[in-house]
Amino acid sequence: MASTSTTQFPIAETGTAAAPDISVVAPAYNEAESVRKLWDKIAAVLGDSHWSYEVIFVDDGSSDDTWEQLRALQAEFPVGVRAYRLRRNFGKAAALSIGFGAAKGQFIVTMDADLQDEPAEIPNLMAKLDEGFDLVSGWKRERNDPLEKRIPSRLFNAVTRKISGLELHDFNCGLKAYRAEVVRELPLYGELHRYIPILAYADGYRVTEIPVKHHAREFGVSKYGLGRYFKGFLDLLTVAAITRFVQRPGHLFGGAGLGMGAIGFLILAYLSFIKLFFDEGIGQRPLLLFGVLLMILGVQLISVGLVGELFIRKLGGHRESYPIRETLGS
Ligand code: UDP
Ligand code: MG
Repeated sequence: MASTSTTQFPIAETGTAAAPDISVVAPAYNEAESVRKLWDKIAAVLGDSHWSYEVIFVDDGSSDDTWEQLRALQAEFPVGVRAYRLRRNFGKAAALSIGFGAAKGQFIVTMDADLQDEPAEIPNLMAKLDEGFDLVSGWKRERNDPLEKRIPSRLFNAVTRKISGLELHDFNCGLKAYRAEVVRELPLYGELHRYIPILAYADGYRVTEIPVKHHAREFGVSKYGLGRYFKGFLDLLTVAAITRFVQRPGHLFGGAGLGMGAIGFLILAYLSFIKLFFDEGIGQRPLLLFGVLLMILGVQLISVGLVGELFIRKLGGHRESYPIRETLGS
């Protein structure tokens, strides 16, 4: 079947399509035992609702028989189920971005395919969107994961809150609901899926969270170890750069450079003063070295900022379109 996706990841096979209210996107990497149960639970919840829906599974290069399960499921429920299969394991961010590109719904709900997220929460997330929010994130207030997962996660969330300025308890929850426009064009790679709320928030979308039920993993194993937090943290720096300074690198580097340069200047001015007017020896003073260091660093940083600005100008990296909430007249 032909692919309708606009993303850059190679797709091996896909299922069929219709145009529903809600597209549920579920990334699945070796979740063969869970996908059918997940579909059953989602269908039980949304089948009873006034929303029409589709479930888009993205098999992220599984090596178990997740794809065979999905193939059978799609054959059984050709209207409700669509499935995409990546050629290899590209990571959750890639799987989500395939799902976002393929989703036809007006609203998109993401949830992990491992049954840890609870489909019965979808109506609660939707109610919050209905209040006018653009993105509603789940918050695993009572999280059913081992302690060695919960502690680094808390730390991670605290740092992310601090750097992003976005007050969410749980950036990492797989269960989220969006107005489709929030994520349809979002470029996702690496571990960036953790920061969708921040990217959306930086674009002016209204972001909130609600506590959601969270189950312990029943089948299969977790795909992540501690390593995710290191990668995740580096990605956070990228996100900070993207959301705050991509337009003006000069302000990031220049700001730091000006600060350091100014302190260095004051130190050197003070040393010059006591040398000239009190004839004190300053050649042996550690402060001299420190002042010189700060001045040099300041000049360097300001230069890096300027080079960054020239780069962006040359490469046309300045943002060309800004997200508009509403228009009146035409
Ligand atoms: N996942 C994926 N690609 C990956 C790793 C994970 O699609 O490379 C999926 C996985 O199948 C699951 C979700 O992302 O549905 C969350 O992964 P996991 O449950 O392992 O994370 P945890 O719940 O342990 O934080
Ligand atoms: Mg999980």
